[in-house]
Amino acid sequence: MGLRLDTLRRKKGLVKDETARKTAADAAIAERLERIYQDFQRQAAPFLEGAVCRPGCARCCIEVGNVDATTLEGMRIRAFLHSLPRPQRLEIGKALERNRRLKRKPGYVRCPFLQKNDTCRIYPVRPFSCRQVYSLTPCTGAGPTVHRQVAHLARETVAALQRLDANGYAGHLSYILELLDDDQFRAFYLAGGFDPARIMHFARPRGLSINRLAGTD
Ligand code: SF4
Ligand code: SF4
Repeated sequence: MGLRLDTLRRKKGLVKDETARKTAADAAIAERLERIYQDFQRQAAPFLEGAVCRPGCARCCIEVGNVDATTLEGMRIRAFLHSLPRPQRLEIGKALERNRRLKRKPGYVRCPFLQKNDTCRIYPVRPFSCRQVYSLTPCTGAGPTVHRQVAHLARETVAALQRLDANGYAGHLSYILELLDDDQFRAFYLAGGFDPARIMHFARPRGLSINRLAGTD
């Protein structure tokens, strides 16, 4: 009996160690994600001085093809959504479903996270595809006016985000969140698993890309 108790304690200790190691690894990756965002912001800052963007200006969130995110960014957004009160979570869940339904037809679809007052519901954790958007002239249907240097910097930043999330995927945010809602996929992904064939039936029709293959075309 004493021996079994001892084995149990040791097993519990190992699980605790593993959980602590995983938490530390997750924190390190979250820090690297934040650093990539900050590096972009710092380098783009001088160009953004002339931007005409202001809170409540939301054409870029309404006339939207895709709001792209990596799975890693999706995990961060998912955690943020889970911290919200239940009524808000339910409302967002419906908006995401509606967004996925509308995305089946061609044309622009309003971002599911844009609130009635035209502000972003997930602003602190919005993905890089939103962080890179600015314009030097008011957007009037022709899309934002940006510097070539910033567009180049943004492409490099996307590549860095995909390298950081090497066993993950990228694509429209409401699809990435749907993928991450799958318990089996999430557990496999969080354990470092990589098997695109496993999700191909979901990923292909929704245009998701494989981060590891980015830039190899
Ligand atoms: S990118 Fe265009 S629509 Fe978006 S905030 Fe800036 S000016 Fe407004
Ligand atoms: S996530 Fe926020 S910033 Fe990005 S498109 Fe949606 S409402 Fe706009």
